[in-house]
Amino acid sequence: PSSPSAPIDSSQPHAAGTNVSVMVPAPMPTALTYQVAEGQNVVDGSIVKVPLGKRLVLGTVWGQSHDEVNPKRLKPIEAVVDAPPIREPLRQFIDWVADWTLSAPGMVARMVTRGEELMQRDPPVTAVRRAGDPPERMTPARQKVLDVITGADAYTKPGLADLAGVSTAVIDGLVKTGTLETLQVQREPGRIEPDPDFDPRTLTEGQADAVHALIAEGPKDGSLDVALLEGVTGSGKTEVYFEAIANTLRQGRQALILLPEIALTAALLDRFAERFGAMPGEWHSGITPKTRRQVWRGTAEGKIKVVIGARSALYLPFEDIGLIIIDEEHEAAYKQEEWVSYNARDMAIVRARFEKAQVILASATPSVESRINAKAGRYRHVPLPARYASRPLPSLAAIDLRRTPPERGMWLSPPLVEAVNDTLERGEQSLLFLNRRGYAPLTLCRTCGHRFECVMCSAWLVQHRFTQTLNCHHCGHVEPMPTVCPECGNANTLVPSGPGVERIAEEVATRFPDARTLVLSSDMMGGPKRLKAELEAVAGGEVDIVVGTQLVAKGHNFPGLTLVGVVDADVGFGQGDPRAVERTFQLLTQVTGRAGRAEKPGIGLIQTHMPDHPVLQALLAHDAERFYALEEAARQRAHLPPFVRFVAVIVSGTDAGAVKAHANHLKAIARSPETIDVLGPVDAPLAMLRGRHRQRLLVRGPRGRETQSFVKAWLAKSDRTRGDMRIDVDVDPQSF
Ligand code: ADP
Ligand code: ZN
Repeated sequence: PSSPSAPIDSSQPHAAGTNVSVMVPAPMPTALTYQVAEGQNVVDGSIVKVPLGKRLVLGTVWGQSHDEVNPKRLKPIEAVVDAPPIREPLRQFIDWVADWTLSAPGMVARMVTRGEELMQRDPPVTAVRRAGDPPERMTPARQKVLDVITGADAYTKPGLADLAGVSTAVIDGLVKTGTLETLQVQREPGRIEPDPDFDPRTLTEGQADAVHALIAEGPKDGSLDVALLEGVTGSGKTEVYFEAIANTLRQGRQALILLPEIALTAALLDRFAERFGAMPGEWHSGITPKTRRQVWRGTAEGKIKVVIGARSALYLPFEDIGLIIIDEEHEAAYKQEEWVSYNARDMAIVRARFEKAQVILASATPSVESRINAKAGRYRHVPLPARYASRPLPSLAAIDLRRTPPERGMWLSPPLVEAVNDTLERGEQSLLFLNRRGYAPLTLCRTCGHRFECVMCSAWLVQHRFTQTLNCHHCGHVEPMPTVCPECGNANTLVPSGPGVERIAEEVATRFPDARTLVLSSDMMGGPKRLKAELEAVAGGEVDIVVGTQLVAKGHNFPGLTLVGVVDADVGFGQGDPRAVERTFQLLTQVTGRAGRAEKPGIGLIQTHMPDHPVLQALLAHDAERFYALEEAARQRAHLPPFVRFVAVIVSGTDAGAVKAHANHLKAIARSPETIDVLGPVDAPLAMLRGRHRQRLLVRGPRGRETQSFVKAWLAKSDRTRGDMRIDVDVDPQSF
């Protein structure tokens, strides 16, 4: 990354008649020129409404324009939006991201102004809460509503209706009888400021050392400070980075906590409120437009001091951000792949450089990249080696499926069944983990062998029993479960192949009929409220066996959970893809780390056909060092990231022949220097996606700017779009 250029005074308004360049939300290589009209107060960073084609769009003023524009075609700015201007460091950051990811700057800038775009629509949100006695006339629907309300908690009307499984009319009825009351107030972030001294925890010695390292041992010369906070599951990383936030608040600066998934935010918001006595701002796709506006404005005006959010929160217009925390920094969910491909973790470090902020990467299982950066001294390594309150890590063992296979048509081996039985007898909880949604990953015809494949993607359709459908997990296509084979016409010959969580839940129901069982999988959620209620039910001991996907693997605290059974570890270890092996190591460490986080010790049992796999052996021994050493050596040997840089160039379109021809053409015109190879074209990992055929060229070159510079010059020789054909560029792709 290059360093930011010297700040210039951008607070001066541009006089009427001045030409300014405006970044508009369109895939164009540069900003467009518009003229400042009489009476407009336009400064650099102002958000303005400008005409683009036949539409009015929101753009951002980037500075004075010196482009030659035909005066007849020069259009005036339509209006200046009453919002704080986008500050210089954020504008520099946008330019940098566009340059680095080889994408249009307007599309990057759009991620910043999106909060403003949504301001147009602003439906009122009414909340309700329990106010009086139950109604005289009780109905089953009304009872359902009262059953789900806890204490004096407030709920949005649609949220409560969803939670109770009734229509909002039932809730209106309960308001009329006086059982519920409506509230004007929302959980308004920024109304009270978080107080760094509200309720500090007593830290363990190890935690105190980590806090000291984070806030007192950074570079003194103002250079970029990235710390990798590596703590085993249950070590109290959250408590530690909360202290770093307290320190930032005492300096009067703002802080951002990024999380990989919305599912994790609710619990963290509560923990934050307990520690700091106030709600932080919340930012992700699930918040209301009203909250979105409050948080966007609040951060720009410096009223909201702390935001907890998904990766898009990285583009919020903070007035003075002093700390960015990336929790679970190794998560693939930080990678965005549509429109602009970027990894929020890497881009957070760049934003911190422009803002002179500190970065803390937190994880129990850091990415191989971050581990290597820490080892090389680019990041500071702050370890947290012990669990809080000296709780032991779970004891882990492999179950060799070759020796003790499950019965035919079943998936749980005898030793695992026995362990679940023992756990039930002790009155403790079990989690059975399988990272596959649905009932079966494949459906086939026993008579003719027909397999159900998505018509839009090169992927099998996944059978879902609860909905009686076949679903594509790549494009969202859903079709009713057929009863007759479309190929041979035979009835009753379609059989599921392989397990998904729903099928494991079915086995659990037959084996442990008296146990209270819950399936937790992202496609079965009735929204974040329901998920929160279900997670609380597990934490409260109301469930004996949880069957779950990666949704339950991380972040949650279930005090009564003492057994974690991994149904199939070979899904990830068996493929020889280095990234899949890394991810499986991380996922299994995280999920087994759910066991034994309170008083009682935990056990993790891992079903596998390859118990001797070296990565599995390292996992069982809790020997992360060994895993990282193995992985680093393997990547270096095979010339894989992070020792080289990969850039994936994907050509896609509806005409397979044209796509292939264009990919071959690109290959033919590539004049790469000695240090850079252009590999392919080959079928992309999903050769067809949403009806588009995809060919992939993989550029391998040195780290640093050289590889991107080559790709930029190379692709400039060809159109990025032609007809419905498109070229997408992905720097540091997930799969290689
Ligand atoms: P991690 O994120 O490292 O898995 P958490 O921060 O979630 O760990 O902490 C695990 C559990 O231990 C949580 O319930 C947390 O509240 C508790 N805990 C950790 N440190 C402390 C502390 N210093 N004082 C009180 N409770 C703590
Ligand atoms: Zn599909």
